[in-house]
Amino acid sequence: MKQLKMLHFMCFAVLIFFLLALPASAGENVGLIAQVYGTAGEELGGLEAEDTLIITDLGSPAGSYVYLDDFYAEFYGNGLLYTKNLLLVQNPRNSPLWFAFFDKNSGDCVFIEVSYGEVEGISYQVTENINFEELAADESSRAEWNTKVAGKVFKGREFAIVTIANAWATGDLDYELMQCLELHNHFCPGVSSGYVLANWVEENYPLEDGVSYTVFSCPVWCKEDVFIKRWDATPGTKGLWVSDLTGEEKEALGGSPAGIFVVTDKNAGTMQAVVLSFDFSPVNEGCGAQEGDPTWVSKYLMDLWMMDKDNWDGIVSEIAVIDIDEATLNEMKQAASNPYVVLGLLDEEEQQTNIPFLSFLGVLPELRLET
Ligand SMILES: [Zn+2]
Repeated sequence: MKQLKMLHFMCFAVLIFFLLALPASAGENVGLIAQVYGTAGEELGGLEAEDTLIITDLGSPAGSYVYLDDFYAEFYGNGLLYTKNLLLVQNPRNSPLWFAFFDKNSGDCVFIEVSYGEVEGISYQVTENINFEELAADESSRAEWNTKVAGKVFKGREFAIVTIANAWATGDLDYELMQCLELHNHFCPGVSSGYVLANWVEENYPLEDGVSYTVFSCPVWCKEDVFIKRWDATPGTKGLWVSDLTGEEKEALGGSPAGIFVVTDKNAGTMQAVVLSFDFSPVNEGCGAQEGDPTWVSKYLMDLWMMDKDNWDGIVSEIAVIDIDEATLNEMKQAASNPYVVLGLLDEEEQQTNIPFLSFLGVLPELRLET
């Protein structure tokens, strides 16, 4: 009897503990996100659906996913829309949790970094006007922003936030490009060129039923993240093979090779290696950037220029289109292979003489084969 009473008491105690603990922990989460929205709303004078873009890495930093439900409750509670008012960028797991609230009407941007977990609260907060026209207006406005960039006013995310927010404010930033920026976490001419290339490939070798792309991203630059997002061409699913080229090899391929896009059509039973180049010179000439411009100016102008599909003619070209088979494709994937050499577009001897160290060790692979 005594034991039963004891058991009842213990159950009661456990119940009370949970009743006290649960609302407290849930309350803390709601508190942090509500605090972030409240601060941003106050600084910007409201969060109008017409004018607001939120950029955040919520979900990427370790354990930050627990705030996602609260975040979306506030987000939709403010009448904001997923495809209109949000860019959820990917960051490394050890990144801080941050939010940028941009108001396109005023050009003001509230940048907030928070601490979360045991101690919750806003740990850093700043409001800056980031309207590109004003930042880039003259020498003194540029110098002023350069100083703020050097001082990491947005904790090192100045370039990403200024380019994404201003491009979004034009109303011409394609949502499917925004989805690529979520993965790439910044907006640069490299990712823009990937978008142009992806559209070119889809237009000329349509991604119809039974068609898939295997990309040899060689040489590598920011463009590859577009192929991952758009075609699910991930390294893990063997859709993307990444390696680099030497300056001499690039020259031998015409100066601006972008990669090899292998188009496999299961229904037709065909496999073609489409070798493409991407020429940045029309972009540099057309975008209006001047020599001596800070990179945040020239790169943004290049992005703006490439956002306009009318400017895409002539920047992507075919270096070669070669019918291949499964065995050739497998050879291109091997670690020791240069896919351009496999396709016969680069001379193996030439490639070896470009890498003296490997030429010196050139005898080793033969020895290995014999053993
Ligand atoms: Zn980039």
